[in-house]
Amino acid sequence: MRILSAVLMWLGLTASVPAAEYVLHAGRLIDVEAKQVLEKMTVVVMDNRISAVQGGFKSPGPGQELIDLKDQTLMPGLMDMHTHITGEHSPQSYTERFFMGPADVTLRATVYAERTLLAGFTTVRDLGEDESGVSVALRNAIGKGLIQGPRIFTAATAIATTGGHADPTNGWRRELMGDPGPAEGVINGVDDARKAVRQRYKEGADLIKLTVTGGVLSLAKSGQNPQFTDEEIRAIVETARDYDFTVAIHAHGTEGMKRAIRAGVTSVEHGTYMDDEAMQLMKEHGTWYVPTISAGKFVAKMAEQEGYFPDVVRPKAAAIGPQIQATFAKAYRAGVKIAFGTDTGVSPHGQNAAEFEYMVEAGMPALDAIQSATLNAAMLLRQEGELGAVAPGRLADLVAVRGDPIRNISAMKEVAFVMKDGIIYKKDGRINAAPR
Ligand SMILES: [Zn+2]
Repeated sequence: MRILSAVLMWLGLTASVPAAEYVLHAGRLIDVEAKQVLEKMTVVVMDNRISAVQGGFKSPGPGQELIDLKDQTLMPGLMDMHTHITGEHSPQSYTERFFMGPADVTLRATVYAERTLLAGFTTVRDLGEDESGVSVALRNAIGKGLIQGPRIFTAATAIATTGGHADPTNGWRRELMGDPGPAEGVINGVDDARKAVRQRYKEGADLIKLTVTGGVLSLAKSGQNPQFTDEEIRAIVETARDYDFTVAIHAHGTEGMKRAIRAGVTSVEHGTYMDDEAMQLMKEHGTWYVPTISAGKFVAKMAEQEGYFPDVVRPKAAAIGPQIQATFAKAYRAGVKIAFGTDTGVSPHGQNAAEFEYMVEAGMPALDAIQSATLNAAMLLRQEGELGAVAPGRLADLVAVRGDPIRNISAMKEVAFVMKDGIIYKKDGRINAAPR
């Protein structure tokens, strides 16, 4: 890059050359690996990677640009392990698929992606989309730098059983229901299960998502019943392993959750009715817990509004929503591994950081909450060599907030500086109009 800069400078084209090196002066730096806060630190970024982390404020050398974050707390880019980046819940969500095509959904998703990035979330998992192919296309376009957004690891279409939580034609009139199969993410039996995993591989997914129990927002009666047999879950986990996929499961009810943990899935999402035995099993199997307290709070609040949810959804939202925060508190105390996740797309995009407040309110120390959204999330993604810490060699995904989030966790909701892959998207709380 430096040779290219020199050549372009010689040609008089310097205006279009990105500064490849930054020297960041951080008033505080959160070391998520040692779980400590360091004061007065310098972080050097070369191209898209962190090249040095040093004590004291070092002066920039020739060709290096100084970024003054002396009044801010610098940390790794935030990572949300449960989002639905292509949609956002509203009373219209149940009918919009009849009015919006893939192009409409995609264009809207670009706005959600940008909002997410500017809120400091430089990496997300997408755990199921309504319009197939959109999250994969979005991931690719962001990866190529065509549009602004977080790094996306997507499950693409979630896998359900007939009538299960992610069956796309639940609640439709009978003539329209049809009989969706593995291509649409609906399986019955082990052959279908294997085929659905292979279909996701063919479509370019990064991981597999299963809805092993009923859910809140689907047009079906139970939010808790087990919806896969042991054999089906095992077939999915085994096939996923062949294709190097991790497996995330949506689960509220205890039985479905336990079947999946025993089968060796990677993460339990929501986990609402997780009991002591389930927690013990998760510790034995090394299963991650992704709490999504934000979604619980959001649906519980909306359930109070007459007419916001369809009749079949409202009682589930009122019963399940308020439980999640208490489950999170119990799981944290029990020592279950926790990775940060919000289920944003249920709650509005860009408000992901509210989850930090809910976690701290439930008894998790602020440093642990930040670790769950950085180092732990990187481990869940198996990207700990690339992401999740401010350390030499890691990708330059960095965010900063004003003040001290360890004393006041609400500071996480006002991210002032965002760098992803060495490119600055936000500085001093202002959007960078020409990111570089
Ligand atoms: Zn979800």
